[in-house]
Amino acid sequence: MEPDDLPLPNAKWLRAFRRRVLSWYEKHARVLPWRGIVDPYRVWVSEIMLQQTTTAAVEGYYHRFLERFPDIQSLATASDSEVLRYWEGLGYYRRATQLRRAAQVIVSKHGGTFPNTFKEVLSLPGIGRYTAGAICSIAYHQRTPILEANTIRLHARLLAYPDDPAKAAGYKLLWQMAECVLPTASSAGQFNQALMDLGSMVCTSKSPNCANCPVVTLCRSAQKGLQHLIPALKTEKNIEKRTEVALVIKKGEKYLMMRYPHGVRWAGLWDFPRHELNNDVARYDFEEYCDNIKRLTGYHVVLHDQIAEFRHVVTRYKITLKVFVAKTTGRKIFSEYQTKWVSRQDLSELALNTTGRKIVEGII
Ligand code: SF4
Repeated sequence: MEPDDLPLPNAKWLRAFRRRVLSWYEKHARVLPWRGIVDPYRVWVSEIMLQQTTTAAVEGYYHRFLERFPDIQSLATASDSEVLRYWEGLGYYRRATQLRRAAQVIVSKHGGTFPNTFKEVLSLPGIGRYTAGAICSIAYHQRTPILEANTIRLHARLLAYPDDPAKAAGYKLLWQMAECVLPTASSAGQFNQALMDLGSMVCTSKSPNCANCPVVTLCRSAQKGLQHLIPALKTEKNIEKRTEVALVIKKGEKYLMMRYPHGVRWAGLWDFPRHELNNDVARYDFEEYCDNIKRLTGYHVVLHDQIAEFRHVVTRYKITLKVFVAKTTGRKIFSEYQTKWVSRQDLSELALNTTGRKIVEGII
């Protein structure tokens, strides 16, 4: 069935849906630190933190971040490194650097006041249609729709949309649905939050609780018994295995650290010298690895013992990280990355990626 064949709900359906969702939300709304807040700066910070991250993971970061950067001005004048330090462990670090860049744009273009039109909000670095919709509806009571993981699933099920909603046609239809269900501007923000809560608490991905859902009689998937088949599964990403090696190199009381430049993974963060270890059929190519470390850090290194191993998944990569003790030989030559020798105490001040921090806390 093509999206155009799926009718959007009529006025009677919409009235019943809005009434039931809002009355369910009054009793069941999640208690979250950013709920009830209408300051656009705070709404913006929470929405950026929540992108691809769970509410449980964000809660602690949200308070700490706002204590250090309580307003646009303080964020705009902070250094990239400091903002990254407060973001450390939350992942998707580009969000933090773009947040700071957007704060600078707000200061230079809008006199330090958060813009209040959808178009201006959308033009800020790091803000897409969903985030602009959330900020404008929650902070400014504008009738702007949102569509994120929870509401994509909810709307797809309400409509019994049979195809992959990530495809262009499905995405277009679900945005239309998100817009048409919204009530008046004054309650649009509350309604958007109610839809996200309904999606995350009742219409969950693995076990939709239709028996206790306030909109069960309005849901086409529940009527047809299709709730477990919708949304259609995305084609599985090809998972690639990678092996990386990080080096703990100590000289006196200091450790060699390198900083990722702009345009690469973990831009702006510090790390122990690290590179992928190519596996040439049956054995690892440590010679090529050492050449790469020399190119990045300017140091020729000699590897000693392996002292730890971590496994983690980043986007489509399943990474095994081997940690070795190593030594440098000779003088430093030109390096592609910034490097410095850092004492144990100063390591706690640097913004590190997650595994870099694990090495500090678990090994050093
Ligand atoms: Fe989701 Fe079931 Fe409610 Fe439909 S009835 S919206 S499938 S929980």
